[in-house]
Amino acid sequence: MTVPYLEASASCYNKDVIANTDCANTPIKRSNPIQITMPAVIEVEKKKLKTPPLAISHLGDRVLRQPAKRVSKVDNDLRELVRQMLQTMYSEDGIGLAAPQVAVNKQLLVVDSDPENAAAPPLVLINPKITRYSNELAKGQEGCLSIPGVYLDVVRPAAIEVSFKDETGRPRTLKVNDLVARVIQHEMDHLNGVMFVDRVENAIALNQELQKHGFSVKDVSKVS
Ligand SMILES: [Zn+2]
Repeated sequence: MTVPYLEASASCYNKDVIANTDCANTPIKRSNPIQITMPAVIEVEKKKLKTPPLAISHLGDRVLRQPAKRVSKVDNDLRELVRQMLQTMYSEDGIGLAAPQVAVNKQLLVVDSDPENAAAPPLVLINPKITRYSNELAKGQEGCLSIPGVYLDVVRPAAIEVSFKDETGRPRTLKVNDLVARVIQHEMDHLNGVMFVDRVENAIALNQELQKHGFSVKDVSKVS
């Protein structure tokens, strides 16, 4: 996912609270932004490379519409893929990247909501599963490295609990909200062949934005 101007902070997000939706789980208590610390087994410098190691697929490419397969083994080959995904994400000014975007059919994604901060480690999520959604919804602008230039509002649960394996293979669970929750949900959609434009409610803005940037609305498949 890309964020247009890397909004000053996650709390700048405009939240439209819509109660009693389908997300019928117990609300997740909102908390102050948490410090996420991960073991740094993959060292990647947060900088732009002239030639990123991986090519990114774009809206219209079939590979983006296939459901990704579970990762069976977290090994050095997988960590090398993670390293290259992170390098590619930083090179393209992204804050999230899912394996299907680089034509790898695996349930794997990387997230860095603070790419300017060299000391903040990125998140690596392997076989992620969202175990809880907040009732509270938030509207926020999203972009995607697979749909460059297009930025549109999407409504999603404001907070989630997600379980996954990290890059060491260790099972983890995180409760996240605001920007990190949005990015993880956006990237997890990619693992199911869903693009953020499928979730855009404003059809006129969607048409205009896609056309303006050379994409076709025919490649959008609405989610219910
Ligand atoms: Zn995306």
